[in-house]
Amino acid sequence: MASTGSRSTNITWHEGHVTRPDRERILGQRGVTIWLTGLSGSGKSTIAVAVEGELVRRGHAAYVLDGDNVRHGLNKNLGFSPEDRTENIRRIGEVAKLFTDAGLIVLTSFISPYRTDRDAVRALMAPGDFVEAYVSASLETCESRDVKGLYAKARAGQIPEFTGISAPYEAPEKPEIVLDTNRQDVAASVAQVVAYLEREGHLHAPSTEASARG
Ligand code: ADP
Repeated sequence: MASTGSRSTNITWHEGHVTRPDRERILGQRGVTIWLTGLSGSGKSTIAVAVEGELVRRGHAAYVLDGDNVRHGLNKNLGFSPEDRTENIRRIGEVAKLFTDAGLIVLTSFISPYRTDRDAVRALMAPGDFVEAYVSASLETCESRDVKGLYAKARAGQIPEFTGISAPYEAPEKPEIVLDTNRQDVAASVAQVVAYLEREGHLHAPSTEASARG
């Protein structure tokens, strides 16, 4: 549906006087987007919300961008055709980039089935700002959970282009994080994501010295 090319001319990006490290020092953290990808029912939303809760409990500013919620507003004019899915992810990627620049720890919860779409978001962001987290669960596991009854409907032919059944899912090749929800519970996945953030320095403000170097 929507063209992804730019239709605007004569527009310039305005740099503000406040830098990203300035904002990050106020927040006491370094912005990042944890991009959760996986089949419907693999656990993306559950993990995203649980990580957000744990981070806020520790005094961090975290924000979940969730599939269904975004489709109620920003992307309500998009469906599930391959091109609409691509546009869906592109727009979310742009929002995640802005939120990351604002210094937030963003958790996105979208099936995002196409590798090229996820790679395009990675390319949009600075190195280290985009962290791909593969929420890995077998189709059998997801189907047996069937939280929203979607797999039953898809099997009955009532939902066309349903990922895993009648539309493809392309698993990440080199995700920074793999959360195997066949084997580990929600608490273990939360601990894994928080440990990653800690290890990569996202839970501390950048030092003045580091920001002076750029
Ligand atoms: P998605 O966002 O990937 O579609 P959801 O988080 O909405 O998935 O649903 C996953 C469901 O599976 C939830 O009801 C959750 O409680 C359940 N679940 C069972 N075991 C796990 C696990 N190990 N990790 C994450 N979710 C799990």
